[in-house]
Amino acid sequence: MSTRTLNLDDPLYAYLLRHGTREHPAQAGLREATRTHPRAVMQISPEQGQFMALLVQLIGARRTLEVGVFTGYSALSVALALPADGRILACDVSEEFTAIGKPYWRDAGVADKIDLRIAPAVETLDHCLANGRQGHYDFAFIDADKPNYDAYYERCLALVRTGGLIAIDNTLWSGRVAEAASTHDADTAALHALNAKLHADARIDVSMLPIGDGLTLARKR
Ligand code: CA
Repeated sequence: MSTRTLNLDDPLYAYLLRHGTREHPAQAGLREATRTHPRAVMQISPEQGQFMALLVQLIGARRTLEVGVFTGYSALSVALALPADGRILACDVSEEFTAIGKPYWRDAGVADKIDLRIAPAVETLDHCLANGRQGHYDFAFIDADKPNYDAYYERCLALVRTGGLIAIDNTLWSGRVAEAASTHDADTAALHALNAKLHADARIDVSMLPIGDGLTLARKR
C-alpha cells in the first residue's frame, strides 16, 4: 500500500479502462481513428475524458470553452456530458486535425453543441472578451501550445464565472517540470512558470492531479 498515486502497469490500466470508463461508441471510434496519427500522443486518455465529463456534470456546466481541439476527443467527451442546450466554443488552428473528429461528433449527435473556430485561440478568446462575455462560461479546458498557456489561462479566467472551472492539461509534462530549470526548453519553462503562478494565485482554488500528463483544476473564486 502506498499513499502515493499508483503506477499503472498494463493489466491494471486495462482494468481501470474496463471498470472506470463508459465510452460512447463514437468516442471509441474516434480514439481508434486517432491511434495511428503521428501526433496521437496529443489525445487525452479515456479516463481523463470520463473525468472531465463528470466535472462538467458536477458543476452543471452549459457553456464551455476548449483551447486546443486536436482530433476532438475531449470536445466529444464534454459535449456528451452537456445538456441538450449546452455549447462548447472550441478553438484550434488546424482544419486538418479537427476534421478527423467531426464525423464522430455527428455520430454521437453532438455536432450542434460544438462551435469550432479555426483561428489562433487568443484571437477567438479576445473576441469573446470584446463582446462582453466575461463570466459567461462555466468550464474551460486548455490543451494547446504551451508557450501561450498563460495567455489562455488569463483569458479563460476572465471568461468563466465565479465558481467556474478551468482544467489545464500537461502540467506535469512527462516529469520535465521537476527537472533543473537550466535544462528547460521553452515548453517546459512555460509550464513550470504557470504551475508556480497557479500555486500562488489567490484568484482561484487549485488542485493538480496526476492523471494523464498532469491535469490542474482551477476554480475561479
Ligand atoms: Ca494534452
